[in-house]
Amino acid sequence: KEYRSDIEPTWCPGCGDFGVVTALTKAFSEEKLDPTAITMTSGIGCSSRLPLWMNAFGVHTAHGRALPAAVGIRLAKPETPTIVTAGDGDIFSIGMEHFPHTARKNFDITLVVMDNRMYALTKNQTSPTSRHGYKGSLNPYGNIEDPFNVIKFAIASGATFVAQSYSGNPKHLAETIQAAVEHKGFAFVNVLSPCPTFNKIDTFKYYKGRLIDINKELGHDPSDMKAALELASHVLDADNPELEDAEPFKGKRPIGIFYKVEKETFEERVAKLKEKFAPPSGEPDWDEILAKYRP
Ligand code: SF4
Repeated sequence: KEYRSDIEPTWCPGCGDFGVVTALTKAFSEEKLDPTAITMTSGIGCSSRLPLWMNAFGVHTAHGRALPAAVGIRLAKPETPTIVTAGDGDIFSIGMEHFPHTARKNFDITLVVMDNRMYALTKNQTSPTSRHGYKGSLNPYGNIEDPFNVIKFAIASGATFVAQSYSGNPKHLAETIQAAVEHKGFAFVNVLSPCPTFNKIDTFKYYKGRLIDINKELGHDPSDMKAALELASHVLDADNPELEDAEPFKGKRPIGIFYKVEKETFEERVAKLKEKFAPPSGEPDWDEILAKYRP
């Protein structure tokens, strides 16, 4: 309760994103985060309403701009736990240019993407993660594009924590988000999160019995980048009926931590620079200088 606001979510009944609110609440509670210190940013879309339901500082930014807003917060207040919640269209289309750069710079940000594989708020258009052949409101003959492999891209971009989970598995999701929050550096969790109102393909029913835990069932070690990239290259195999029995997932959707590595964060490098180039004694220090420009 400590981490929830008194505003009730306005999502449709059965929306997968409810599971993300529950998992975030559990993860914050396990991590004993101070709710008056957490900042959450989001963009535009159904999932981007999420900070409103939480007891935290929330910034509902412009479409696709949740990550740069979070970067600003990290630079101004590096002691603030910073969580970004977003949808697949928001982050991987409109805000796509921010993703690889925030990842490679290793800002200490947790990014949770609710991936329902289409744009829901604007009533069912294809997004970058929509299946080939998906029939949205603007392409009734089916999507002619192939979906974007976000897990492979995140690892290749330099993200230091990359995972996938499912909103219908509260335990796995809460544990994965908790591990992401604990991680020092850029942590990306892609959450398979059904939209029962519009997407009639990637449903809870579809995912039932079609998930495979790469850490528990396949023994994947997230510190092994080569193995992580190899697994990541098969993330979308289940979209293809011809790959139904193909290794390593045999037609299932992988969940778990693909990649995790310790690396100096951008904020730590800034702190080192500030120390190295500190103004001479008697002069105002960097924080005093910067304070002049803050509202
Ligand atoms: Fe959730 Fe879909 Fe409803 Fe949006 S339209 S609130 S994603 S179920």
